[in-house]
Amino acid sequence: MPADRTILHVDMDAFFTSVEQRDRPELLGKPVVVGAPADKRGVVAAASYEARKYGVHSAMPSRTAYRLCPQAVFLRGDHAKYSRESERVMAILRQFTPLVEQVSVDEAYLDVTASLRLFGDGEQIAREIKRRIRETTGLTASVGIALNKFLAKLASDMRKPDGLMVITDADKLDLLRPLPIGRIAGIGKKTEPVFHEIGIHTIGDLQRFPIETLRVRFGVWADEMKARALGEDDRPVEPYGEAKSISNETTFEKDVSEMKTLERTVWELADEVGRRLRAEGVRARTVQLKLRWSDFTTLTRRTTLPEATDDEGQIAEVAIQLMRRELKEPRPVRLIGVGGQNLLRSPKQLDLLDRGSNRRDDLNRVADAVRARFGAKKLRRGGEL
Ligand SMILES: [Mg+2]
Repeated sequence: MPADRTILHVDMDAFFTSVEQRDRPELLGKPVVVGAPADKRGVVAAASYEARKYGVHSAMPSRTAYRLCPQAVFLRGDHAKYSRESERVMAILRQFTPLVEQVSVDEAYLDVTASLRLFGDGEQIAREIKRRIRETTGLTASVGIALNKFLAKLASDMRKPDGLMVITDADKLDLLRPLPIGRIAGIGKKTEPVFHEIGIHTIGDLQRFPIETLRVRFGVWADEMKARALGEDDRPVEPYGEAKSISNETTFEKDVSEMKTLERTVWELADEVGRRLRAEGVRARTVQLKLRWSDFTTLTRRTTLPEATDDEGQIAEVAIQLMRRELKEPRPVRLIGVGGQNLLRSPKQLDLLDRGSNRRDDLNRVADAVRARFGAKKLRRGGEL
């Protein structure tokens, strides 16, 4: 990991509704909702700051939004127009670095580490980006500047709208300490209570919590959560746009609850995922497990790895760990899926210092060649037997 990176998170303010207010000045200062009509099924895609004051937010049913704020102007929205505006914003960001990772229509990470000599420090670059966005599109953006993606995103969110915030290495721990643990991506409504149970409410609680105990509870995920609490995040900015995924799943003819069979199935599925990742020349940073129970309810669990992988052994191990966490009590499973997400181009150069993993890479490549020639069923690695 490079020692000192400068990462920006650029997030347009109330993007869809700001575009509408720009184009229809009669809407300025008024609560505006883009999404399903107030009297129809469907949800809010975006709410202007004026509407947010009434508690309206995106993903809320439009009917609820109407109940909270009946005077709001409800618009279907013009998504072709939003895409065009988005493209103009992204083009501005690419003026500062090719390392722009667009995470949604109105949000991107930039790694400007190599641009600092040309454009000034992170804060100067952020100011210039905000100025050009305003000049070109008439819209405002909030920018967070930090050493990594996690902190940059946190920073962009702290001064909205039209914000600019820097989080430095020196102030990150103090800044994180009082925040609720839900501010860490991946800790949502369902996981939060599990943390509360063991006395972790704030990120500060998590900073102090012994890692060994966390690992018992959360497995491979513990280290990532702990790192975030300490303000650490070595995920690179990946300029490949929307993450694709490669996955593979199977439905059992009869529901299965026996762990040995489930594990063997995960190995078979992971085997195919690894082969396809290598065939595409990509690696997955995130491993996803999907389980469907006999009542057809489905859950997905995922883990982001410290380093991207195309190794089926590692994918299977992580997926099995996720599965064991869900199956502390045996329960009939109808379907299992294993997937790799968050895909990155594989680096082609060989890292001579890391012989262990290279041997495994070589082994996988040989295995792929054999399978290509003799068919997939011929070859099974030891771990699957
Ligand atoms: Mg936004």
